[in-house]
Amino acid sequence: MTTLVTVDNNGEVFTHFPDLTGNYATLCQLDGADENPGVNQVELDVVGKVDCRDCIALFYFVRLLRVSDIDKRHKRPKGAAQ
Ligand SMILES: [Zn+2]
Repeated sequence: MTTLVTVDNNGEVFTHFPDLTGNYATLCQLDGADENPGVNQVELDVVGKVDCRDCIALFYFVRLLRVSDIDKRHKRPKGAAQ
């Protein structure tokens, strides 16, 4: 199950897809709790539908990719969980 992430980024609040690498909070690479000076990002408990344009663009881009482009050593069997 995907856990969506809502982030207040300098006063702009959007809901995002999560990042799967663990380096960021969101697929569009927001930290969600960035401690760098001048960056004011906070993860909120409020979660709605994804309305981040970058996350939505990434989602639709990935849907255009083909499994046949993945090296066979990294392919997962059909129906396998991630
Ligand atoms: Zn996003």
